[in-house]
Amino acid sequence: MKKAAIITVGSELLEGLILNKNAQFLCQELKNLGYRVIKISTVGDHLEDIAEEVRSLLSKVHLLILTGGLGPTKDDLTREAVAKALNRDLFLDQELKKKIEEKVKKYHSEIPSNIERQAFVIEGAKVIDNPVGSAPGQLLEVDGKRVILFPGPPKELIPMFESLKELLKTPHALYQVILKYYSIPEALLEDLLKEILYSQDKVEVATMADHVEGVRLKLTTSVEHKKFLDGLVEKIIEKTGEYLYGMNDEKMEEVVVRLLKENKKTLAVAESCTGGMLSSLIVNVPGASNVFIGGVVAYSNDLKKSILGVKEGTLRKYGAVSEQCVREMTEGLKKLTGADICVAISGIAGPSGGTPTKPVGTVFIDLFEQDHVTIRYNFSGDRNTIRTRSAMMALENLRKHLKERGKL
Ligand code: ATP
Ligand code: MG
Repeated sequence: MKKAAIITVGSELLEGLILNKNAQFLCQELKNLGYRVIKISTVGDHLEDIAEEVRSLLSKVHLLILTGGLGPTKDDLTREAVAKALNRDLFLDQELKKKIEEKVKKYHSEIPSNIERQAFVIEGAKVIDNPVGSAPGQLLEVDGKRVILFPGPPKELIPMFESLKELLKTPHALYQVILKYYSIPEALLEDLLKEILYSQDKVEVATMADHVEGVRLKLTTSVEHKKFLDGLVEKIIEKTGEYLYGMNDEKMEEVVVRLLKENKKTLAVAESCTGGMLSSLIVNVPGASNVFIGGVVAYSNDLKKSILGVKEGTLRKYGAVSEQCVREMTEGLKKLTGADICVAISGIAGPSGGTPTKPVGTVFIDLFEQDHVTIRYNFSGDRNTIRTRSAMMALENLRKHLKERGKL
């Protein structure tokens, strides 16, 4: 198996100012391409430190990837450091300089003089186009090994890496499918699937769970067993399809927006404890404006009454965290917005405010189209976890409702 190593360059990483997302992304991708990553090294913006790490790691691996330090400023030293470590020259590529200047012109009225630094290419390197930013990447072949330089910002690195995947694939490349669930606990899912999953040994099974993405079932195999894995996925979907919200990179909010479009339905939301989180998730999806009318953050009882028409008597008798209240919230919202589907959330996110009958984590979610579907939840976790779970569960309820509608 080919070995790989990663050098993430940037003093801000060593100072704990940013999370090393590049290392995480590259490790996952390299594993899937069939490499064994033997080291992740983080180095500050110092020429000699970077060069030393390049020399040391290149003696051990087939593929060395560096990220960061390709910008135009003086502290961006990766090009110089790699050239030094490999004993190669750096030269100014005039064509590349023109291209970079064209790009920069689109966003800035003046071209900074230091932008030229980004057009320096290491002798023998192939330039990798950066479709997002101005700093190009570089790919070098060194004695049958590869050294690749990528810019630091993940949104630039990711598409650039994608463009090299075919080239970097090894015979040990893996094939992977991730199945995503929200409203079924991990243990129950495994119980339903144990016969399918553990009566075979070609596919490696891993489950991961968190309150943002729910339960993810990761199936991995070598490329030669792709068909077998696809067959396994079909069997899994037969058993658990009703809980499955998405596959691979698909997000819950994307699925919900897509289903709303397919069903030609509009949506409005009224949020108390989630404070706009649900709206924000929906608006994250490009094209949400076709289906999402808007949201009301009705945090106080006064606003629940004045904007959504929740009755004083309801609040007094049942409280704001109650089935009655969320139902009146969606009814008021329907009058206010005319949306086809209205969703309301009201709950106790804590850490204080719980009572013996309604402890912290008690959340009511109502979904109202022709009829009400009201569910009481008892979420665990800290304030933010409870809020996230509430917003995600509201999306999951929408997903299920729209799926059911699709079948009618
Ligand atoms: P730029 O032209 O933007 O300066 P660069 O290639 O010089 O790109 P750096 O200056 O090292 O990259 O980093 C720019 C920004 O990219 C950092 O401030 C940080 O936000 C992000 N970044 C860099 N390295 C990483 C990393 N390993 N993980 C996540 N983000 C990173
Ligand atoms: Mg920089």
